[in-house]
Amino acid sequence: MTNTVDATRTLAELRELRALTGDENGAQRVAFTPKWTLARQWLGTKLDALPVERHVDEGGNLWATLRGDSDQTLVIGGHLDSVPNGGWLDGCLNVLAGVEILRRLQAQYQGRPPITVRLVDWADEEGARFGRSLFGSSACSGSLDLDEARFLRDRDGISLPDALRNVGIDFERVKACGHELKSAAAYLELHIEQGPVLLDLDLPLGAVLGTFGVERHAITFLGQAAHSGSTPMNRRRDALLAAAKMSPEIYRVAEAHGGVCTIGACTTKPGIVTSVVEECRITLDQRHLDEVALARMLAAMKAASERFAAEGQVRVSWERLWQIAPRPFHPHLIDLCDDAIREMCGRSHRLPSGPLHDAAEVARAGVPTVMMFVQSLHGISHNKIEDTREEHIELCVAALDRLADKAMAWIQDTQG
Ligand SMILES: [Zn+2]
Repeated sequence: MTNTVDATRTLAELRELRALTGDENGAQRVAFTPKWTLARQWLGTKLDALPVERHVDEGGNLWATLRGDSDQTLVIGGHLDSVPNGGWLDGCLNVLAGVEILRRLQAQYQGRPPITVRLVDWADEEGARFGRSLFGSSACSGSLDLDEARFLRDRDGISLPDALRNVGIDFERVKACGHELKSAAAYLELHIEQGPVLLDLDLPLGAVLGTFGVERHAITFLGQAAHSGSTPMNRRRDALLAAAKMSPEIYRVAEAHGGVCTIGACTTKPGIVTSVVEECRITLDQRHLDEVALARMLAAMKAASERFAAEGQVRVSWERLWQIAPRPFHPHLIDLCDDAIREMCGRSHRLPSGPLHDAAEVARAGVPTVMMFVQSLHGISHNKIEDTREEHIELCVAALDRLADKAMAWIQDTQG
């Protein structure tokens, strides 16, 4: 059989990589460290058996190219790097599934598929060492801010440019890797879900609609400190009372607009047992796949905060902490992903991604993109307990392979 992937080999290779680069606390492939370099060398030995051209680009991303009759290119991506004490699947499952698909294509087409197919191992997806996620893919998409990244340092005070120099990457030239996406006609990425949605639905696989946009704010209510014994209840300007009303409100707003909202922190001043709260600062994190709905959720909470402030005769002010736009994936590729999943396991589910992924950067660069999620046991990742059932791992490799075929046919149809 040359026309099917051997997903049991992917499982065996995942275990091999775990034994080589993990320890009793989990995966230790932090980007630009010796263990990461070792993982890359190991990947190289797997790719050596294939007729692929291989190089590392200016941004540190590793590319393996199986040249086809046409330059139009299907790209399959993942990341070998992990967080410290990470899981055995996050990122490397995607890469090794891609290797298996390259093997299948080379066997089926005697080394020359109808279009070009490339595998990319993105550099430093996790940002575990320098706090900057999606490093290699954002260098490639062009969104990396060099002036910001230049001054990043790790815990030992080593700067990002110095760490890159140690692995042969010139920081000032990282964005030159943008040319790698020039002929990319579609991008596919498989990933563990890292959440509980598919587990709760008892489904192995899902098609990802895109990555959430995020609005992150600090909200401060300002009232008046007053003695807890002498101040009648009707004379208080209690900042905490106004802030506390925000908590049930986020559930109403999230329900009404279909997103998620979190108040994750709350601090009070003076913060003593005998004083009415003068100042209460809360944080609000809002996420939605749809830009307009995200803006409406934000506007709804702003209006609510003003209402609660007026009711309690306190003042309110907002400060934006961080923001990122939603990255919806390509509608037709989402359909193809859904089809591939249904053909493999009967049922599919469409879901957004809470975490960001390299795929969001590729979509931002204008390449039609989709991701496939496979169920996570415990809904947990970035932890050594991260796990997925073996039969689901095998299923996702086969489903991604099917999706690769569909995407290749679509590229040929639409781009001649
Ligand atoms: Zn990942």
